[in-house]
Amino acid sequence: MSIPSVLAAADAPVRTGPGARLAAAAPFLLILGLALAVPLAGNDYWTLIATRAAIYWILVSGLNLVVGFAGQLAIGYVALLLVGAYTTSVLAAGTVLPALPAFAALACAGIVGALVGVVVGLPALRLRTFYFAMTTLGFATIVTQIALAWQDVTGGGIGITGPEMPSPFDSRLGFYGLCLAGAVLCTWMTLNVAGSRWGRALVAIRDAEVAAEAVGIAKPRLLVAVFLFAGGVAAVAGGLFASLQTYITPDAFTFDLSLLFFIAVLIGGRGSVLGPLIGTILLTLLPEVAAPLAAWSTFLYAFLLLVIVLVLPGGIADLLDRGKHRPLPLERSIAPRAAALQDLAARTTAREPITLTGVRLSFGAVRAIDGLDLTLRPGGVHGLIGPNGSGKTTTLNVISGYYRPQEGRVSLGTRSLLAEAREARALLRIARTFQTPRIVGDATVIENVMLGGSVEGRATLAEALLALPRHREDERALRASARLALRAVGLDGLDEVRAGRLQHSELRFLEIARALMLRPAFLLLDEPAAGLSAQEIQRLGGLIRAVADAGIGVLLVEHHADLIFAICDEVTVLNLGRVLAAGTPSEIRSHREVVSAYLGG
Ligand code: ADP
Ligand code: MG
Repeated sequence: MSIPSVLAAADAPVRTGPGARLAAAAPFLLILGLALAVPLAGNDYWTLIATRAAIYWILVSGLNLVVGFAGQLAIGYVALLLVGAYTTSVLAAGTVLPALPAFAALACAGIVGALVGVVVGLPALRLRTFYFAMTTLGFATIVTQIALAWQDVTGGGIGITGPEMPSPFDSRLGFYGLCLAGAVLCTWMTLNVAGSRWGRALVAIRDAEVAAEAVGIAKPRLLVAVFLFAGGVAAVAGGLFASLQTYITPDAFTFDLSLLFFIAVLIGGRGSVLGPLIGTILLTLLPEVAAPLAAWSTFLYAFLLLVIVLVLPGGIADLLDRGKHRPLPLERSIAPRAAALQDLAARTTAREPITLTGVRLSFGAVRAIDGLDLTLRPGGVHGLIGPNGSGKTTTLNVISGYYRPQEGRVSLGTRSLLAEAREARALLRIARTFQTPRIVGDATVIENVMLGGSVEGRATLAEALLALPRHREDERALRASARLALRAVGLDGLDEVRAGRLQHSELRFLEIARALMLRPAFLLLDEPAAGLSAQEIQRLGGLIRAVADAGIGVLLVEHHADLIFAICDEVTVLNLGRVLAAGTPSEIRSHREVVSAYLGG
């Protein structure tokens, strides 16, 4: 590659700035332009189809956060459409309570839908993938049966009239305008979430759940917030759907429709807003343009799904992403800058050590750690070495809360860490990296790093949805810190590159940058030098030393004896879960048993 093209490649993928923002908005504006032009065709039929697409998208936009972002396979979302449709219709008709105006009924349906959305979603906190999918499907069957059986309220199989919208939304055109406005609002809101710490957190629990917990993301709270939103908009879509249909029976809410919503997200592409939007439009149009095929719609969906899974696993979004094959500079080196670290770590206030006393942890018959004592001091590097399987990673997992020891104490100062949840470690400023890097390959480098500062954000999901000032402030602050962290570890220039494209050694430094975003008091590193070149190991050593000099306590699990002896203040040698030796590097280096058993001298 020539030098100018290398420079261009390094400079090219910058996505901030007004020009870039316009470029990102262009496809949405184009779709909006087309949507506004539909009524000009002077054909009521197409306006009807477009109205239906807008309503479906209102539902899919929320479902997209659940399925595409958080990776939860909710396939029964037609249930929420039904709940919204009936709630709106019943409240507007006044058969049970005094009749409400249509918009008030719609708002009530939104609230009911949000609550039901959480109920449908709750199993996701325990069940994974297909098991969760089956519960959502079961729920869809249950609500259909309830709608059939509860005749007094729902009219049973005979059905009930949909709500009538007040003027000017009672005309076909007016109603289309209303649904389109709702669709635009939902697009805007979900785009805001996608670019917020909430969106990054959702993708992180999908692709790197343990890393998400390590940076302090509480999965249950996050999912409940998203289920509230997705349920709410789905029910509002249901209310609009009922109004469009003018008359609803349980038959209107078929499994096909549920599949349509789900597949729209899948063919759109995970973690994108534009893709699922296009997917929804395509799937709404498909049976119309191929009217003779209407009876085959289930077959068509299934076929489309197969094609996508086999030929285009990234979905439509992947097809539209022009930046993904842009060449990266081949000759790139990681050059950490300790100066940036000083700015980043300015707020670190660790004074107390982390202490492990008499910690024991067995997996069945395997004694992974067996009576371990260890003290991690602020501002020092503590090396933990030992042969494979000697309990190093387990020790790190005990400190970071992934395992609970059967015996012994783990405390920060006088405070016991054993009672704290995993994700609470982040609030205590204990950060870690993983023996196998856990990153979100689909997200950019800077997004991965910003993930590390999730607990710093103050805006709620509602504030992020509406892009309120606190959300914008969060984003600015996180992005600025992430730039510093990337500079500190020497990965700047790769900000906007997809993390999945980096080399292994770069991922190790990326994980350190993410951990630094916590402004940690303690940093636990699990074999950070594995897979690095000699020069990279040397630079890593300098970086770790600088981290400790900034006041952070470092636990360094390593195999490279040179690195350990060069930068550690204390070293503990493990063997079969027990401490073989502990002391300063020079003591360890001359320790007879260590030398013969481990260092091979
Ligand atoms: P190291 O990091 O020093 O190579 P580990 O801490 O990963 O070693 O493992 C210590 C011992 O505990 C090994 O014998 C390993 O097989 C066992 N072990 C670790 N994690 C688990 C687990 N989740 N389940 C069962 N055994 C485990
Ligand atoms: Mg290990």
